[in-house]
Amino acid sequence: MPVVNRIADFAQDMKTWRQWLHRNPELGFDLPKTAGFVAEKLRAFGVDEIHEGIAQSGIVAIIEGQGAGPTIGLRADMDALPIHEETGAEHASQTPGVMHACGHDGHTTMLLGAARYLAETRNFAGRVALIFQPAEEDGGGGEAMVQAGIMERFAIARVFAMHNAPEFAAGEFFCTPGPIMAAVDEFTVTVQGKGGHAAYPHDCTDPIPPLLAMVQGFGTIVSRNHKPIDDLVVSVTQIHTGTANNVVPARAVFSGTVRTFDPKVQEMVIARMEELVQGTAAAYGVTAEFVYERGYPATVNDPGSVDFALGVAAEVVGAARVDGAVERMMGAEDFSYMLNARPGAYLFLGQGEGAFCHHPAYDFNDEVAPVGASFLARLVERAQPVG
Ligand SMILES: [Zn+2]
Ligand SMILES: [Zn+2]
Repeated sequence: MPVVNRIADFAQDMKTWRQWLHRNPELGFDLPKTAGFVAEKLRAFGVDEIHEGIAQSGIVAIIEGQGAGPTIGLRADMDALPIHEETGAEHASQTPGVMHACGHDGHTTMLLGAARYLAETRNFAGRVALIFQPAEEDGGGGEAMVQAGIMERFAIARVFAMHNAPEFAAGEFFCTPGPIMAAVDEFTVTVQGKGGHAAYPHDCTDPIPPLLAMVQGFGTIVSRNHKPIDDLVVSVTQIHTGTANNVVPARAVFSGTVRTFDPKVQEMVIARMEELVQGTAAAYGVTAEFVYERGYPATVNDPGSVDFALGVAAEVVGAARVDGAVERMMGAEDFSYMLNARPGAYLFLGQGEGAFCHHPAYDFNDEVAPVGASFLARLVERAQPVG
């Protein structure tokens, strides 16, 4: 794979860093070993500033280029998942029940590789802000970093990030303008009736029939209220009620997830759910509580930044290995908070054959690390050329 030669020179170092990170996975906001490792490497590379402890374990490092210019932000996530590793790899997790099953060890390594090259060469104007965030998988570390004021504090003008993609050709970049990842929300409906002896249903107010009507009603939000060409998922994934075959339960609960790309669609879903829940409850003589929790917002790419980033990717791997019109995905990503704060783009980098992310047999492909690091480094050089 064609890469920046200087970065290819230290590919073996990147593999060593990545496998150290893989052996030492940590969860959420609490990443003392990981953040310590990252800060130690950044110091050794000679970056100009290191700001630690942002959103607990987050780091922002600054590298000064040549002459005046804006600050470009590059972001990597550092957290692992509560999954027991089954790769059988020599560098497997040394912490039972925790593993880097989403390749954030690889993301951190690629940004470190770009940092080493950029600190050595400084062939760009202005500054680069290297953003290492905690808690992408759960907890919204990206949101916490934005709330900690990193965009203003470091005068970041635009932001870029990428995620590895198993099952796509190794070293292939893909992206799409506009929304690329969904907003992911959750809902819970609690139906309260009156329980009693199942032989005397007329003395009870059974919560099960209204619950079933609500679940069926929710299906019509997608099929009848929603414009067919827009993407929307409404999934009821849990139903809980009852304790015995001869007892009418007093309470029944169901819950699930909603995935949208457009805030207007999201608002429509919430309004229709509330109407269906309260209307159905009234019809059946029960009461119902509807709780809707918004999760990560949709990840929305700035079209100009996508064009620019794909041009840089084509320079690194060749135009034939770049796809700018990939189908958007129903998963979520908390880089969305950074893209809501600043224009930029979120891209994917193919990993080749292997288990998918969040699978116990998943492992980041070290072969693509020099490709990703070269892309990030070139992105800075092209975005902010010297002179
Ligand atoms: Zn993940
Ligand atoms: Zn991930």
